[in-house]
Amino acid sequence: MVRAGFSRRHKFFPTRTSRIGVAQMKFEILTIFPDFFRGPLDYGIVRRAREAGLIEIGIHDLRAFTHDRHRTVDDRPFGGGEGMVLKPEPIFECLESLHIAPREERMGEDARQTVVLLSPQGELFTQAVAQQLMGRERVVLICGRYEGVDERVSEQLADREISIGDFVLSGGELGAAIIVDAATRLVPGAPPSSTCGSGGLLDYPHYTRPAEFRGMPVPEVLMNGNHDEIRKWRRRGALRKTLRNRPDLLRQAELSKEDRKLLAEIEAEQERAGR
Ligand code: SAM
Repeated sequence: MVRAGFSRRHKFFPTRTSRIGVAQMKFEILTIFPDFFRGPLDYGIVRRAREAGLIEIGIHDLRAFTHDRHRTVDDRPFGGGEGMVLKPEPIFECLESLHIAPREERMGEDARQTVVLLSPQGELFTQAVAQQLMGRERVVLICGRYEGVDERVSEQLADREISIGDFVLSGGELGAAIIVDAATRLVPGAPPSSTCGSGGLLDYPHYTRPAEFRGMPVPEVLMNGNHDEIRKWRRRGALRKTLRNRPDLLRQAELSKEDRKLLAEIEAEQERAGR
């Protein structure tokens, strides 16, 4: 039974429909720390997308789906060992209360809903994964805590496990906030148009006023109004940054003949400079 006066669905992120219809994407976050999200999802593009009705975010307190007076969400691991494990019952019940499509319907290529378990054992979260999630109407994000989540959640409930990086955090909440942010940036109309990651490269360098700061001038080419030169300079900057910081990305990037020529020039330049 749910404790009286305790809302199952937190109201920090009230749902709202846009003038043209329902939100394009709904995120449902299952957590034992609903207050955690007061900050991270209340700024910038995510906030504006929410206010414009482009996205909805539901925060669901797993403790509201417990049935004992201590509202217990964790228990000791079978087989012994350190730490506690999140129990399956509150997670299953919470998901059932959301009336998500059955798992078989969520598995197809064009499925509209998906259930994700945040886990350090998951597939790595990348821009490509954000893109896949953006196409879904409803994305459920289950946040683990303690030593993790009872494996039956991964086996029977979640469609996929996602890790936000090769490190271990204390909980899935930061990961869920990162996924909401990255996917929201891809919702049409949410951010101003951006060239970040264009063609699989890192972004090019950006400058703003003042034109000279502490003896450091902005590259001349950005101020001469020649759009073709600016485009080329930016592409070169993106290639240089990618080569320096993430050469692995170049293997899969979409490179034109012009890009390959620029890349060869950058490599030659770097060789001359002894780098
Ligand atoms: N015992 C687990 C292990 O060693 O892999 C660590 C569990 S971690 C302390 C608790 C929860 O934080 C996980 O269940 C998961 O939801 C979340 N978490 C931790 N690191 C994460 C990561 N890199 N990506 C996504 N979620 C993560």
